[in-house]
Amino acid sequence: SRQTIVAANWKMNGNAELAAQMCRGLNDEKFNADQQVIICPPAPYLALLQANISNSQIACGAQNINENEKGAFTGEISALMLNDLQVQYVILGHSERRAMFHDSTELVAEKVAYALDSGLTPILCIGETLEEREDGETESRLSYQLAPVIAKVGIESFKNVVVAYEPVWAIGTGKTASAEIAQQTHEFIRSYLASFDADVAQQVPLLYGGSVNAKNCEELFAQADIDGGLIGGASLNVEEFKKICQAV
Ligand code: 13P
Repeated sequence: SRQTIVAANWKMNGNAELAAQMCRGLNDEKFNADQQVIICPPAPYLALLQANISNSQIACGAQNINENEKGAFTGEISALMLNDLQVQYVILGHSERRAMFHDSTELVAEKVAYALDSGLTPILCIGETLEEREDGETESRLSYQLAPVIAKVGIESFKNVVVAYEPVWAIGTGKTASAEIAQQTHEFIRSYLASFDADVAQQVPLLYGGSVNAKNCEELFAQADIDGGLIGGASLNVEEFKKICQAV
């Protein structure tokens, strides 16, 4: 069976106090045997979280990396720095980065390749806009986002990739995809991966993201091809995030 994952994407939110509260709140939790909890705070809080997490099933992730190893790239962070802090995960291709910071499909592919080369596990985000869904372009959009990554790193490497399906229209809007729509779309993503390699497709954890909260998470996580969630707003509240972690 596939690993289940609940990941927190704090985006540009939180502070040292939230990091401390999160560690206190989650360290003593008991999770399912094959479950992974991942907290992705803004980069300045990674070291603080790493130092205060004592539960072996909780790991940290960054929200982005630069595709270069080091050098004159003011404001950027590199995979080597995450290695240095023993940070295991990195969110790549989030729709906010694609829309606001010019992360093209090719650049996302480069970042995924560099993350994998550095021993990190990318959480690769893909998703369609409302207009694309209404125009019946969801599947072509998702394959358009996945194809350059598969071409760059090879399907075998997806054994070390987590894919997060985040419909843009569901992010921060309070409009979750229905469990049925989310499952259908996850099933498509898995079948698209299976068209390259059926075994790998069965192994890749597929997370749903977009307005997941403590109330709607159970039904979403119960779907056959939904292996967990990538949580934005609801991950900033310790009690709510705990409930979501326990629902997977
Ligand atoms: P919300 O849970 O706030 O909708 O954000 C989802 C998301 O973008 C997680 O990466």
